[in-house]
Amino acid sequence: MKYDVLIIGAGPGGIFSAYELMKLRPELKVAVLETGNPLHKRNCPIDGKKIKSCIGCKPCSIMNGFGGAGAFSDGKYNITNQFGGTLYEYIGKQEALDLMHYVDQINLAYGGEGTKLYSTANTAIKKQCLQSGLHLLDASVRHLGTDVNYIVLENLYNLLKDKVEFHFNTPAAKVEKAENGYRVITEKGDTFEGEKCIISAGRSGSKWMETVCKDLKIPTKSNRVDIGVRVELPAAVFSHLTDELYESKIVYRTEKYGDLVRTFCMNPKGAVVNENTNGIVTVNGHSYEDPAKQTNNTNFALLVAKHFSEPFKDSNGYGESIARLSNMLGGGVIVQRFGDLIRGRRSTPDRIRESFTTPTLMATPGDLSLVIPKRILDGIIEMIYALDQVAPGTANDDTLLYGVEVKFYNMEVSLDENLQTIHPGLFVIGDCSGITHSLSHASASGVHVARYLSENA
Ligand SMILES: Cc1cc2nc3c(=O)[nH]c(=O)nc-3n(C[C@H](O)[C@H](O)[C@H](O)COP(=O)(O)OP(=O)(O)OC[C@H]3O[C@@H](n4cnc5c(N)ncnc54)[C@H](O)[C@@H]3O)c2cc1C
Repeated sequence: MKYDVLIIGAGPGGIFSAYELMKLRPELKVAVLETGNPLHKRNCPIDGKKIKSCIGCKPCSIMNGFGGAGAFSDGKYNITNQFGGTLYEYIGKQEALDLMHYVDQINLAYGGEGTKLYSTANTAIKKQCLQSGLHLLDASVRHLGTDVNYIVLENLYNLLKDKVEFHFNTPAAKVEKAENGYRVITEKGDTFEGEKCIISAGRSGSKWMETVCKDLKIPTKSNRVDIGVRVELPAAVFSHLTDELYESKIVYRTEKYGDLVRTFCMNPKGAVVNENTNGIVTVNGHSYEDPAKQTNNTNFALLVAKHFSEPFKDSNGYGESIARLSNMLGGGVIVQRFGDLIRGRRSTPDRIRESFTTPTLMATPGDLSLVIPKRILDGIIEMIYALDQVAPGTANDDTLLYGVEVKFYNMEVSLDENLQTIHPGLFVIGDCSGITHSLSHASASGVHVARYLSENA
């Protein structure tokens, strides 16, 4: 099976590559190979009744399939160079922002119209934060919500399905150099050949990506891992921030160690969810645009970045071990009241039941101090008290902490300004490149490569 362009992975990176290629060069023969299912067949079996926690489906419907890890996400497209990746270091700041705005326009055209764009420009909250040692990062954020995000993906799939060949349930096992491009051998043993190949395997494809880089001798660098907890509290506590900004990315430098702790992925009136990465259950969150599906709680992560280089290099391995420990003690994700944590006692089912904050995720009541390293936990506690000054109530006893939340980053693949590897015609985009970690950056990287290919394929 021979193609002009092969795309591995149908997450935002792969979808936007395919979209832009079809728009600019509709005559090209393009195939997308995807481990997971088409969008309508992606169903996580956790229903809170019969199946209460992750049972490790293969492929995982949350992480794999059309729409990638982003399909059931909150659909927050942050338009900024301040976080979400370092794409701008490769393609320039203005180009990166222009591409993120372009992606936003496509999302609006395919079902996202009417959704709100929030912005930190001119907000008085910035000054309030600074007075408490908190730094609010600049961004515009389009909140599609899980429901509208799904509709946009459905519309993009309907647009692309007759122009691009999608091969679902088709994990790529090996990428080899061929006479005229690249040969991809799937786990089933089928062979696809493409003159050009774009790899967009996301975070779930991180381990596989490592083998591709090893086999093809593509240089890589170790990346950081972010470790922390997901905080859940009554939506009213953060409403003055979330009503104006929707998501506030706030960074705090701890007094004790000088570490940076940051908020991440804020979900007003949202729900806390499990995330399964390569069999390890961690925590995440999302929220719906539809008021009928909203909860009374807001959740967000508090994360500390750790980067190891010498002699220990495996930052992800460190994060995995901490997540495994929480899985070992809690059988999955652990939940603890903030009041119990600072009193040095575990949360019990009774204490959680009596809590004024009702958990949105069924997690095991326990003690996070037995799992999270002291330095990281001290930083998180310090930041909760700092946030309490701008959002009084954050440090209430009944604030819930779920652990662990781990953000794994792929090792950074050595790429040029076109996101091309040392092998001409082989591109790596999105989260598996290690240079993006968000919907907007991953999508923008896909458009960038497609535009380059449309002139050079
Ligand atoms: C619960 C959750 C909520 C999130 N919320 C947000 C948010 O609100 N805003 C935000 O900016 N980001 C969010 N993210 C992160 C965001 O989803 C990712 O940054 C983004 O999806 C990355 O896009 P990608 O295309 O690089 O990779 P992915 O979306 O991970 O897609 C990669 C695809 O490649 C496939 N694949 C992997 N290996 C292979 C292989 N060997 N062969 C074939 N296919 C393969 C996978 O099945 C997957 O479908 C969230 C993530 C999760 C899990």
